[in-house]
Amino acid sequence: MIIRLDSAVGTYRGGMARQCSRPTCAREASATMTYDYGSKTVWVDDLLDLRTPHTYDLCPTHADRLSVPMGWERLDRRNSEVRLLFAAAS
Ligand SMILES: [Zn+2]
Repeated sequence: MIIRLDSAVGTYRGGMARQCSRPTCAREASATMTYDYGSKTVWVDDLLDLRTPHTYDLCPTHADRLSVPMGWERLDRRNSEVRLLFAAAS
């Protein structure tokens, strides 16, 4: 199954805030999800300035909740120091 959202997220450019790519979510994206069918791996990174059909921007909630299909691996590479700083400031 391939879900193509690139036509929707591809319009966000430059200084505009990027929105979570989940259809029912209007929160600002803070993470980028990338996946690879070959190695059955899903990566969650800090928001990447990168546009391919295989990347999706996610808000913190959806990035944290992201689940992967059976047999896939989920690697969260977000910078935990940055997240702790944000938590301390709020
Ligand atoms: Zn979201």
